[in-house]
Amino acid sequence: MGVYAVTGAASGMGRAVADKLTAEGHRVIGVDIQETDIVADLSTAAGRRNAIDDVLAAADGRLDGAVLAAGLGPVPDPARLPMIAAVNYLGVVDLLEGWRPALAATGAARVVAFGSNSSTTVPAVPGRTVKAFLAGDTDRAVRSVKIFGRQAAPFVYAASKIAVSRWVRRHAVRPEWAGAGIRLNVIAPGAILTPLLESQLASATQAKAVEAFPVPTGGFGKPEHIADWVCMMLSPSAEFLCGSILFVDGGTDAYFRPDDWPRAVPLRRIVGYLRKFRGFAVTRNG
Ligand code: NAD
Repeated sequence: MGVYAVTGAASGMGRAVADKLTAEGHRVIGVDIQETDIVADLSTAAGRRNAIDDVLAAADGRLDGAVLAAGLGPVPDPARLPMIAAVNYLGVVDLLEGWRPALAATGAARVVAFGSNSSTTVPAVPGRTVKAFLAGDTDRAVRSVKIFGRQAAPFVYAASKIAVSRWVRRHAVRPEWAGAGIRLNVIAPGAILTPLLESQLASATQAKAVEAFPVPTGGFGKPEHIADWVCMMLSPSAEFLCGSILFVDGGTDAYFRPDDWPRAVPLRRIVGYLRKFRGFAVTRNG
């Protein structure tokens, strides 16, 4: 049985994952700002440092896997934007960087980071915001959406999830991750009935936006179902799953973007590989 670090373990989907892993006989080290094994505020550098160190100590330097579910929704309060940005992005990537040696130590670790279908269904997310996240500068990411005023939260939220997804895909394939037996993947839920969604539904304006969103299957997703998918992504069957983003969203992404992907890789990206094949002549001009 394995040892798993689960952030956001006190509520919603993180809690559902922690409960399922525990029921399967695994040991879970929960991390959350609320009551759990390790209480840490992932919106601050000191909180993230504590979370990294305390988990490494509790796991004795060996982790079979990690689930990064702690996150804040797109609360329409400009004062909360820095917190949303820090928890949703740095609360994932800083912890993964810090835990990487412990994940590598088991030789077959599995990681699931929580993205969102907001990453593909919120329109007009500024590229500069995603860029700032990927540079690790969450303050710049927040400043970059100031022009949207009180409407900025969905853009910060979606950009944080795009950036997490891209960070995972960039790193998943590298020797330090894939080569060390670590499988990094993303789950991208749609509207799942958790306290996060309940608080959106409790506000008249946010509820209108949530309910207006097309969900081909109808209704909301269940945290226990997401936990089942996550546990599959943590299982030995995920050996060949690397850098994937799994959408579990009732069909919203497919509804809005049926033909946007899969999309063929641009030729310029694979010219180097094609040149390796003897007899395959590819010139700079294609
Ligand atoms: P939730 O609010 O039920 O759980 C989130 C957890 O994160 C809570 O336990 C909370 O205490 C913890 N957290 C918040 N701020 C923290 C901080 N500063 N430090 C440490 N922990 C902190 O929400 P959920 O719906 O279960 O969300 C889980 C993940 O799924 C989040 O990353 C969220 O963005 C993502 N997501 C949720 C939905 C949805 O509809 N519920 C959809 C797509 C993606």
